Amino acid sequence: MEPFPMTNTVLNDSGPQADLKVIRDPAEMRALSTRLAEEGRRIAFVPTMGYLHEGHLSLLREGRRHGDVLILSIFVNPIQFGEGEDFSVYPRDFERDVDLARSVGVDIVFAPDIEDLYPPEFATYVEVEGLSATLCGRSRPGHFRGVTTVVCKLFNIVRPRIAVFGRKDFQQLAVIRRMVRDLHMDIEVRGMPIVREADGLARSSRNVYLGDLRGQALCLVEALRLASRLVAGGERNSTAIIAAARERIEREPEARIDYIQICDETTLGDVEEVSPASVFLLAVRIGKTRLIDNHHLFEEMA
Ligand code: AMP
Repeated sequence: MEPFPMTNTVLNDSGPQADLKVIRDPAEMRALSTRLAEEGRRIAFVPTMGYLHEGHLSLLREGRRHGDVLILSIFVNPIQFGEGEDFSVYPRDFERDVDLARSVGVDIVFAPDIEDLYPPEFATYVEVEGLSATLCGRSRPGHFRGVTTVVCKLFNIVRPRIAVFGRKDFQQLAVIRRMVRDLHMDIEVRGMPIVREADGLARSSRNVYLGDLRGQALCLVEALRLASRLVAGGERNSTAIIAAARERIEREPEARIDYIQICDETTLGDVEEVSPASVFLLAVRIGKTRLIDNHHLFEEMA
């Protein structure tokens, strides 16, 4: 896929070595994406909450490969955070994010202000029933309603042909695929593998909260590795695999399990027998930091 051609709408006026453009106004973003779409440009979109790391960059590289205009959104979405969650302290570093975005060839960073996405009269939500209620939805009621609402709004503003998400947030990906199907959105959703630190910890903007407890956070990936080894050795019984993983996590003094489940990858319903279509999902609090991770148990752990 060739990078965005310079012959039609010029994304900015700094010449062929065009730098990326930052847009805050949703109306301006939509007018530009409409024009780009009319010119036949294929818009690839990666929505994030910023504080970018290698996981986000892998999605952007994928977007760069498949689109000829690459748009990144950075928006810490207040309506997907519950009462007492980390909205106000969520890590932010816009300048660094823009530099990283530039380094992977992002054309446009869309970073709207909260008041522009949620004016006082705002009253419309998008909710995917069922899939949103299980797993993380149990301990974070309203979370996925917040996610699907903002992603739907961003899709309407950015008008992508392709949207790239990480499998790190496996349930989120399933919920978004369902929304896109149910609402007949003409968008190809791509899911990318989890990017991990060298020691296996899944990359997350929230890892900065861990401090001295980072070592204990490795229990999530170790539980996944243990479960994969059991499956490789012939174990298929979910209850037995979950019990072993639970035992591993509970060895860490600051670890509190939110859930450990083995689910069908599409319905997210619990499965009794593990198959290639099942995914092992867990959410664990390490001190005050809530971490999630997952793995298809028939696949090798990186
Ligand atoms: P966030 O900024 O945390 O809302 O994440 C934005 C996107 O990046 C979502 O699609 C996430 O699934 C994805 N993402 C976050 N962490 C990772 C990771 N470690 N590997 C792959 N994708 C990730």
